[in-house]
Amino acid sequence: KFGTAVAVEEPIKPPVEVEHTQLLIDGKFVDAISGRTFPTLDPRTGDIIAHVAEGDEEDVNIAVTAARKAFDKGPWTRMTAYERSMVLYRFADLIEKHNDEIAALETWDNGKPYEQSASAEIPMLTRLMRYYAGNFLVYSRICYHCFDDFYPTLTSLPSSETYSGWADKIHGLVVPADGPHHVQVLQEPMGVVGQIIPWNFPLLMYAWKIGPALATGNTIVLKTAEQTPLSAIYVSNLLMEAGLPPGVLNIISGFGPTAGAALASHMEVDKIAFTGSTETGKIVVELAARSNLKPVTLELGGKSPFIVFDDADIDQAVELAHFALFFNQGQCCCAGSRTYVHERVYDEFVEKSKARAMKRVVGDPFKKGVEQGPQIDMEQFNKIMKYIRLGKESGATLLCGGERSGSKGYYIQPTVFTDVQEGMPIATDEIFGPVQSIFKFRDIDEVIQRANATRFGLAAGVFTSNLDTANTVSRALKAGTVWINCFDVFDAAIPFGGYKMSGQGREKGIDSLKNYLEVKSVVTHLKNPAW
Ligand code: ADP
Repeated sequence: KFGTAVAVEEPIKPPVEVEHTQLLIDGKFVDAISGRTFPTLDPRTGDIIAHVAEGDEEDVNIAVTAARKAFDKGPWTRMTAYERSMVLYRFADLIEKHNDEIAALETWDNGKPYEQSASAEIPMLTRLMRYYAGNFLVYSRICYHCFDDFYPTLTSLPSSETYSGWADKIHGLVVPADGPHHVQVLQEPMGVVGQIIPWNFPLLMYAWKIGPALATGNTIVLKTAEQTPLSAIYVSNLLMEAGLPPGVLNIISGFGPTAGAALASHMEVDKIAFTGSTETGKIVVELAARSNLKPVTLELGGKSPFIVFDDADIDQAVELAHFALFFNQGQCCCAGSRTYVHERVYDEFVEKSKARAMKRVVGDPFKKGVEQGPQIDMEQFNKIMKYIRLGKESGATLLCGGERSGSKGYYIQPTVFTDVQEGMPIATDEIFGPVQSIFKFRDIDEVIQRANATRFGLAAGVFTSNLDTANTVSRALKAGTVWINCFDVFDAAIPFGGYKMSGQGREKGIDSLKNYLEVKSVVTHLKNPAW
């Protein structure tokens, strides 16, 4: 035990202690074979929270062997879908029970405001587990109406969660084919799945990855980000308490070029799912291709446009544009990092955006009312400060912010640039920090063309009260998600992923299941077909 998280003033939470710092392999907490550890830091101060076991290739090999055994020999793959779903349900209940400790651990390791961890990220983890779990009492939301006659009371259950779920509803098809053949199309788990996640939403990314992979009956080796290893180990212990058999989920803490690369290039890993930067995504695809051609899903970077038309509710648009960029310290792959504003409302929008940014409460994420904590680490802090400098040098107007906030930790003032022109570094690159860039536009065709003129295509926001404008723009944008008069709506049922260099495949929703299923056609010859 290496320390405690203590709020500086008005502590929201009592101190937390770190219980788990080892790798989780085959149901046991173990040290790395090399015996090495690495420190994980508190972004508020740069102090060490704990030393964590540093997994590398050898540990990945052992974890993959455990996952292979768990897949080939069971019991996971021999349990009924209902039994598997109940493990996820019990896990969701345990997360709910430990919500506050998990939230505190997440904030300590990541720096995001405790209030957001406790009221958004951890409840979303619970919600996602229930979404993927399944429920035998009431059928899924797509077919439960068929049961109205038999179970009239069930349709009035208070929570939609009661009838959500996938684990026990994955089924194949019987398809008609020419000739005397009986044709079944089966949906089967892929086997051992490798998953690599980033540090910006450690537990949400964990949930997006393990939920669909477990619901479809796979086994997993998951590598957490080196900046935020703690919360995934903690909750995975709860998952075992919920009844997950040994070897089904193995957690490796460690670094990308060692542990991550070993996973992506492993010959016994049947699939790899990655969330992180576009640059690293390319490496992962290459490693997968060079080894056993395992299929890859990718959720990568973005430079999402947020478009405000002159008929929008300006106050609401200012607030949501602010949220779209500054939420999570600006560390969101889908951040609305190019704010396009119609020239007729530009001046008003700019003035109000500045006022909003200057009101943003930056400080210790454990303090009540804090909206923005520190950036994750020194590397990201330096990268963001470099982009602020480049913004100034390339001629954009710095409206507010632009400096470090405080004297220790990785805090940055909420920063707003106006007069941003296409081609400036702050207009083209993913900054991943609290830096809003505001552009002016004249008409709809122009803004569609400019919004799409990027190598990314993750998300977009459209603000207008005109239905025709909303429909025209949303259909024209090359982005995996278009939010109209809203932003960052992340329901478990809504698929999320990117066009172009923002990714391949979709997470959440029905589409996420496809990432983890093989399709097998079974064609049986019929001697004497009856038809
Ligand atoms: P960031 O730059 O935001 O840290 P990365 O894409 O580098 O994003 O990191 C996302 C995840 O990818 C982390 O878990 C990291 O350890 C992992 N990673 C980094 N480099 C590699 C690599 N060469 N091979 C596999 N995984 C990697």
